[in-house]
This record gives sequence, C-alpha cells and structure tokens, in this order.
Amino acid sequence: MGTHEDVVFAHDRDTGLQAIIAVHDTTLGPALGGCRVWPYENPGDALTDALRLSRGMTYKNALAGLDLGGGKAVIIADPRKDKTPELMEAFGRHVDRLSGTYITAEDVGVSPQDMEAVARQTAHVRGTSATGLGDPSPYTALGVFEGIKACAKHVFGSSDLEGRTVSVQGLGHVGYDVARQLHGAGARLIVSDIHAPAVLRAIDAFGAVAVDPAEAHMVEADIFVPCALGAGLNARTIPHIQARIVAGAANNQLQTPADGEALKKRGILYAPDYAINAGGVISIALASPGGEDTLVRQKTLAIGDTLTAIFERAGTEETTPEHVADAMAEERLAKTRKARPVLKAVSA
Ligand code: NAD
Repeated sequence: MGTHEDVVFAHDRDTGLQAIIAVHDTTLGPALGGCRVWPYENPGDALTDALRLSRGMTYKNALAGLDLGGGKAVIIADPRKDKTPELMEAFGRHVDRLSGTYITAEDVGVSPQDMEAVARQTAHVRGTSATGLGDPSPYTALGVFEGIKACAKHVFGSSDLEGRTVSVQGLGHVGYDVARQLHGAGARLIVSDIHAPAVLRAIDAFGAVAVDPAEAHMVEADIFVPCALGAGLNARTIPHIQARIVAGAANNQLQTPADGEALKKRGILYAPDYAINAGGVISIALASPGGEDTLVRQKTLAIGDTLTAIFERAGTEETTPEHVADAMAEERLAKTRKARPVLKAVSA
C-alpha cells in the first residue's frame, strides 16, 4: 500500500457490500478508474487487484495527457448472482463520501445500468448516458488503429497498411472494430476468436482468413494485434511470433517485465498496452453531457504521436518501449509535483 494516497474498505450492512476503493495518486487531478465486480476468493486478492489496477491508471492517465490521477474500485461479489441496484447504490454512497477524490466508471462485471444506479448516489461517476459518449470501445479501437500506423511507420518506414498482413486475436468490441479499420486501409486479415460467430462475421465482412486462437501469434504476418486477454506475450509465445510489430488493445499483454526484453531481443516492436489502448479512458474522461467528441478524437488520435515519441526515445536510450512509457508518465508526475506551490509552516 506504500505508494497509495488512500485505500478505503467500504462496507454496507443492509446490502452486504464489500468493496475496496484505492486512490493511487491525485497529482494530476482526481483519481479516475473503473469499478470491477469480481468474486475474489478473499479480501487479500481484492486488495492486491485494487492496488495494482489503480497504480496502472495513474500511469495510463498521465501518459494519455489527461489531468486526472489514478484510482480503481473493486466490489467483492459475483456479477451474475450478487449484483443488485441496491448494492451499486451503496457503492455510490461510498464513492460520494470521497468528495470527488475518486471518480468511478465501468469495468469488468459492471454494466451501464449498474453505473446508472451508482449515479443516483454520486455525481463522481463517468460513462453514464448523462455524462458520456457511451461505449468507449470505438475510441479504444480508433487509438489502436492510429497506434498500429505509428508502429508501421517506425518499422517499415510508412504508415500505409495496404497489402500488409495483420493477425487480429480477439474479435470483441475493440478487436472487431480494429479489424474493420485495417480492412478499410487495405490490410490482409488473419483473425481468431474462441467465439466462432465472431470469426464467421469477420470472414464475411472482411474476407479474413481464420486461424486457431492458440496460433494467432505464430502465423506469417507483419503485425500481431492482441485484442483478447492479458499475459499473451510470454516465454512460451514470444519465440514463435513471426510479426515485426505487436500492437493491440489487450490489457497487461506482457506476462513479466522480462517478456518485454525478450521481444526487444527478437527485434519485435511492442506498443505498450496502456499507451495504445488509452482511447477508451480518454473518451470516458473528456466526454461532456450532450457534448460532441472533437476533443476526444483529437486526444485519441494523438496516441500515434505518443507512441512515435516512445519508440524514438527507446531507440536512443537502448531500452524497451514500456520502460520509456513508464518514465514519461513518471516525468509528467514529477514535473507537476515540482510546479506545485509549497505550503510553508508558519511559526507562531
Ligand atoms: P470483449 O469481451 O468485447 O472481446 C474480447 C474477445 O476476445 C471476445 O470476442 C472473446 O471471445 C475473445 N477471446 C477471449 N479469449 C480468447 C482467446 N484465448 N483467443 C482468442 N479470442 C479470445 O472485450 P473488448 O472490450 O473488445 O476488450 C478487448 C481487450 O482490450 C481486453 O483485454 C480489454 O481489457 C482491453 N481493453 C478494452 C477497452 C475497451 O474500451 N473496451 C479499453 C482498454 C483495454
């Protein structure tokens, strides 16, 4: 808990709510991060997740250029069995007690309806129909597509994707939309998903070739785009990757820090996940009630430039892109802390 500003254990007798709200850092602004509902085996696991995820949000928000800190909430409950409007309202009351230090939003196990229940108790919530642009996935996909173009420019000298072969793993909300944009740009698609209808849809719409999900990283392709689950880049998969670029939406793609080094050693350019998939949080953070999305699009399109800056610096410093991404986020935080007026103690 050492580096966190605040960690709150939230209980409610009437609904049985058990939640943890972790505020990692508010240097740049209120701590924005989603609320996850998950049947953790014990409170210790929930705490570990809340601490890790909230820290990740500090870095993601800082690198995305948002004036927001990092936080996250977890509710210990089975989203299919235990979730009720009353439970979410009780959570909303706890968020409200933090007076805006923490701003909540949707995450795994939470639906837009759940967030409407939270919003009945607190104004410190984003991504509801009253506050946002709706589903963040199209913005995540837009950022990933921009990011892929920046990677192509860095590796192949051109961001033109015409004729490039791209393997997209996971055709859900984000992956399908990235595939659509890649198809529009003239790329040849290899697709995979454990959900067969999603694959058939992509074959139909984009003339894609299907592969077994377990082989998505092994195929002959220029670019590998992981849009399914995390930890897909590991000691088992990395030796078999044929692509020169790995750039996708999935969170926590590297199983361990050593996997980033292994990609670098093999000459594969890796787009740090939290840098390339920030379009969703940008849309949640900046969308205004009834507002249009110009600013959100602008910031999301800037993900390409951020990645280019990361890759150039990684080249100069002979380090990995994820090290540079962390360093850039930390530098922004340090600069903001330094610029703050220091309150001097006044002696009587
Ligand atoms: P989703 O649940 O809509 O889609 C995930 C897809 O992956 C599903 O179609 C699922 O069947 C498929 N899948 C699951 N396991 C697979 C496997 N082993 N091999 C191949 N396919 C598999 O999720 P999403 O919203 O599209 O998000 C995709 C990834 O991007 C997740 O890791 C998510 O955390 C991350 N992400 C999403 C957003 C967003 O705005 N939705 C933002 C940032 C990061």
